[in-house]
Amino acid sequence: TDVCDIQTLIKKAEITHELTKCEIVALLTDNQYAAEFFAAADRVRREYVGDEVHLRGLIEFSNICKQNCLYCGLRRDNKKVDRYRLDIDTIIDFAGKATSYGYRTVVLQSGEDEWFDVDTMVTIIKKIKQLGLAITVSVGEKPREVYQAYREAGADRYLLRIETTDKELYEKLDPGMSWDNRVRCLQDIKELGFELGTGCLVGIPGQTIESLADDILFFKKMDADMIGVGPFIPNPDTPLAAEAGGTFDLSTKVMAMTRLLLPDINIPATTAMESLHPQGRVLALQRGANVVMPNVTEGEYRQMYLLYPGKICINDTPAHCRGCITGKIQGIGRQVSGTYGFRQKHA
Ligand code: SAM
Ligand code: SF4
Repeated sequence: TDVCDIQTLIKKAEITHELTKCEIVALLTDNQYAAEFFAAADRVRREYVGDEVHLRGLIEFSNICKQNCLYCGLRRDNKKVDRYRLDIDTIIDFAGKATSYGYRTVVLQSGEDEWFDVDTMVTIIKKIKQLGLAITVSVGEKPREVYQAYREAGADRYLLRIETTDKELYEKLDPGMSWDNRVRCLQDIKELGFELGTGCLVGIPGQTIESLADDILFFKKMDADMIGVGPFIPNPDTPLAAEAGGTFDLSTKVMAMTRLLLPDINIPATTAMESLHPQGRVLALQRGANVVMPNVTEGEYRQMYLLYPGKICINDTPAHCRGCITGKIQGIGRQVSGTYGFRQKHA
């Protein structure tokens, strides 16, 4: 693809929000016009979702996991993690604090921890719902009936990254798990009326640019409402310790491309991005993102929810994070939203 084609492709993406796989690959591979590409994503973000940034308070309520994903620090074979599980009252207490920081959504995230059975989760969701918060659940793969129970209890959104659309690669990196079942989960979540959040890791060993293009086309096909893209950061206590990991630039390119092709969705500036770059979240907000997920987990638990090394803010308090992120958002002329921040679908 020659120079002029790249600029034409950026315009095409900005105006039509449609590209072929081969066009996506060309843009993800180009470096010369990266600044123009990011600027286009930033304009589309502004036109479709505006300047407001939605803050979602993240509660990491258990780091116990029965799965064994090769990239993740919480995998069951990692004996070096101190495991914890918050009790119900502590979770509700953290959610109450989230409201006091002005957050309108909490994200309940954990490993796949069977202690939190369906009745326990339903109890937690109902109690948090009484606080007037929107709830995002991110606890992995479940049968449809379980998702349905969460939904009926009041959960609004569900986050489950596909991680990669390369089925063979997925099943190699997530031993014992099935890619088809993960897609089944995403379909159930969508059909049950949740806002569907998915996304991918960038830079996992064996992944190609073509496969990242497939990921973005998959997000579009699924009509996802939120997409989280983050660099894979190798964890020394996992089998992928010696791998290279993803770069900040490619991760933000995949994110910016997602904004161009799914213009009205919610896109977080992910924690992993800031872990690779000191201004990672602000840059992401200027390359297509419109959501930040500040941590509201308190005390020693933050250090224990260590997916990868260098995770930011593990020694900060929730109040500090609230002030810090508000300052960063205002520093780039954007505002913190006071709304729930559901997707406003454009026709
Ligand atoms: N257990 C649930 C699940 O897997 O969906 C939710 C928690 S899991 C820790 C959340 C996300 O962390 C995963 O979807 C994965 O993309 C990300 N993650 C895990 N290990 C990572 C790593 N080494 N670098 C970057 N992100 C990672
Ligand atoms: Fe468990 Fe999720 Fe980590 Fe996989 S990514 S090991 S399911 S916490």
